Amino acid sequence: MPIGRGGVPEGEPRPVVLRWDGSDDIERAVHELARRVPARLADLARLAYNYRWCWSPEATALFTSLDPHRWQACGENPIRLLQEVSPATLDHAAQDPATVSRLQTVADELASYLARRPAGEQMPASSPIAFFCSEYGIHRSLPVYSGGLGVLAGDILKEASDQAIPLVAVGLLYRQGYGRQHVDHTGWQREYWVDTDPERLPAVLVTHAGLPITITVDLAGRPVQAQIWRVDVGRVPLYLLDSDVPENHPVDRWITSRLYVNEHRMRLSQYSLLGIGGLRALRAMGIEPSVLHLNEGHAALAPLELARDAARAGVPFDVALEVARSRTLFTTHTPVAAGNETYGPGEVLEVLRDFFADDPQRYLQLGRIRPDDHSEPLGITVLALRLSSRANGVSRRHGEVAREMWAELGVDIGHVTNGVHIPTWMAPPMRALLDRYLGNDWLSRTADPATWEPVDSIPDHELWAVRQELRRRLIDAVRLRVVNDRLSRGEAAHLADRAAQVFRADVMVVGLARRLATYKRTALIVRDRHRLMPLLGGEHPIQLLVAGKAHPADDGGKRLGQEIMEVQAGPDATGRLVFLSDYDMGLAANMVGGADVWLNVPRPPLEASGTSGMKAAMNGGLNLSVLDGWWAEGFNGENGWGIESVGADDTEQDIHDADALYSLLEHEVIPLFHERDEQGVPRGWVRRMKASLRSVGPQFSATRMLHDYVERYESVRRAVEGTRL
Ligand SMILES: *Cc1c(COP(=O)(O)O)cnc(C)c1O
Repeated sequence: MPIGRGGVPEGEPRPVVLRWDGSDDIERAVHELARRVPARLADLARLAYNYRWCWSPEATALFTSLDPHRWQACGENPIRLLQEVSPATLDHAAQDPATVSRLQTVADELASYLARRPAGEQMPASSPIAFFCSEYGIHRSLPVYSGGLGVLAGDILKEASDQAIPLVAVGLLYRQGYGRQHVDHTGWQREYWVDTDPERLPAVLVTHAGLPITITVDLAGRPVQAQIWRVDVGRVPLYLLDSDVPENHPVDRWITSRLYVNEHRMRLSQYSLLGIGGLRALRAMGIEPSVLHLNEGHAALAPLELARDAARAGVPFDVALEVARSRTLFTTHTPVAAGNETYGPGEVLEVLRDFFADDPQRYLQLGRIRPDDHSEPLGITVLALRLSSRANGVSRRHGEVAREMWAELGVDIGHVTNGVHIPTWMAPPMRALLDRYLGNDWLSRTADPATWEPVDSIPDHELWAVRQELRRRLIDAVRLRVVNDRLSRGEAAHLADRAAQVFRADVMVVGLARRLATYKRTALIVRDRHRLMPLLGGEHPIQLLVAGKAHPADDGGKRLGQEIMEVQAGPDATGRLVFLSDYDMGLAANMVGGADVWLNVPRPPLEASGTSGMKAAMNGGLNLSVLDGWWAEGFNGENGWGIESVGADDTEQDIHDADALYSLLEHEVIPLFHERDEQGVPRGWVRRMKASLRSVGPQFSATRMLHDYVERYESVRRAVEGTRL
């Protein structure tokens, strides 16, 4: 009968709680969904409406076990699973005492997780940190992310939840998400979009007095309304604005359609809705944030809206602006020009004419490096830097680069190096192994190097066995994907099958997956076929797995994918090089779990951080990377391999770096992998794996990253204590 602690027993009236932040709406949805499943399984509804399940191996296994086939068919979306699974299957599970008892354990764990009190001094929950980002990578079933920025934001929310930091997050609900990738027979990327029905997501509309709460922002001369969806990520509520409502002009309903639409004015409308609308949404729900954290400059208008709001209430605008600024923290994520977007004054004044109406020139000045240079467009990074009191890059190196890049602004830019959420990215077999050797509560102590010391005492063959198991799982997934990818390109069935069989669970795997953007130089590895082909054949071959999407408008990025495909299909191909289509968080988890070596060869200093190599390291993979971004501070000579990138121009640099890459593979990496003892364990390799886990584990976990951010939040909060806007 119970539907979980904090829930409402069936048949009893719900207690009236006057909160408009959507928590009541979640309760209602849980109750509704619980009515569709047998009473003994009612707690499944509560689990389904909180993404906490996706970093609990037990909860994930429970959903999978209900109906493994349907779980995959639903894209691992538990709401859809419970809506679509057959009643007979549910009845069967309800009769199984083991399932019921597992559910009880997992539901109890969730309840105590949500009730956990923060350790140490924390900020007051009544005035949380408001985190703004244009994308969130929480899980593959919530397709509102495109790449690293979103996945990092997702990791931050999960870690904030684990540490019980009062934080609320704001973003957009893209009804079509990001472009999915099909690679045609010429190797060219074709995008297609899949509609997301929010009713089938673990999302609820935030309502008040039975009606959806909506906010309005005037954009391009029209009032644009947005409703608010709430998604629970552990203890952190994620609010997603949605302009696809019938009241809006058809053009404006498109604002929250796709991530980073190409059309400039529409993109600016997206950012305006995120920044201005996001802050209005929080206020409409009665949430008064203490600190605004702009994760990338897209939401740069949020502090301006905070100041404008105070000015409307009578505070002199300059004072209001200064207070808003002092409460805002900004993280810049890329030195690449395309990531530091600019907009011409004409475009800006067209989209924001109402918002900027009282003093357009003044606002434009805020977004220019040289305020009085009228030929300079408005830069969103400049705007964010001007409207925040603390700013940071995402690695030590990137901090230096960003300081230099924006020196003329005279703002101070520090750094908080990225980290990854270990419970999300460490595959269950590795986690189970570390559970045995690092002590039961090690996951709450990952930022402490001492936590990782016992890694050295893990018997080599045990660590190696986990590695073998993870590679086996990856190869199973690769074979399936190779067949699907090839058949979808119209290839013959027997050839597709033969291509899949080439992949072997006992052959070294090199992984390379990231957004296809020219500065990432994904095709560097195929630069010299005469060096590459012997690596893919012979007595000690490697298997090279490549994946990544290009932005739909980035032909340069698509060309990189095509170069890989051309070599893959070339006359001298061995079949051990494959480009896997449609990279997403699911494929990423497989790849970073199973790869023995993780490759990254960006053109320095353009890799702000990079995070996939951290994920690979958490699974015992070794990084082979250009010394840029996080690896410039992560590489210690023993935990992988580093390439010092040199060259007078791009071409020379490419030649040098490719040569260094091949040489390392030929002379160090591949031989070390095959140096086995009598039990078949590569001792030298395992030694490096341990060095990697011990160094990368504490330094590049999201736990350490959040500690750094909390320090910044605290200093911002102390600086504005007592001021109210
Ligand atoms: C981790 C991740 C990224 C970011 O990888 P980088 O190393 O920063 O390029 C991008 N996409 C997905 C799906 C990821 O999981």
